[in-house]
Amino acid sequence: MTAAIFLDRDDTLISNGGDLGDPAAVVMLDGVITGLERLSSMGFELVVVTNQGGVARGRYGEKDVELVHERLQQLVGETTPLHFYYCPFHPNGTVAEYAREHPWRKPAPGMFYAAAQQLGLDLSRCWVIGDQHRDMDAGRSAGCRTILFSRPGTRAEERRKDPDHTVKSFEQAVEIIRRAESDG
Ligand SMILES: [Mg+2]
Repeated sequence: MTAAIFLDRDDTLISNGGDLGDPAAVVMLDGVITGLERLSSMGFELVVVTNQGGVARGRYGEKDVELVHERLQQLVGETTPLHFYYCPFHPNGTVAEYAREHPWRKPAPGMFYAAAQQLGLDLSRCWVIGDQHRDMDAGRSAGCRTILFSRPGTRAEERRKDPDHTVKSFEQAVEIIRRAESDG
């Protein structure tokens, strides 16, 4: 079975201070493109898992989310293919068809399970990299190892169970995975 790196999108791969529905505004964070290439060359599938409650709040539509993902793939390069899963639902949404809780919405692990089924993943060999505790909670629930970005200026969150690793850069996250794999 294959292993994957589950990647939060906003403020993990790309800069996003708020809702983003404009592909022209996609800006990659430092070290991400090189890091993704390295992870892919180690044999991991790369799976983006992102809550997009902006759809439920009527800020942009699913088509815009897909265009942002096309742009992200273009910036990363076609030789490093990404899989995308997003959750457009939010319980406080204003767009009726999306205004509900959903098993795909992190901290629930629904996107991880869907990807595991579709891509044939061994979740115990997978990792999650994200900047929020809900990313860690979702990954942990799915049985993955967890790496939390702790960047200066990141929203302080209620402290829950510690992640397996905490890093300050994408490069550090890749290095932790590389070492664990070579010790493996
Ligand atoms: Mg994030």
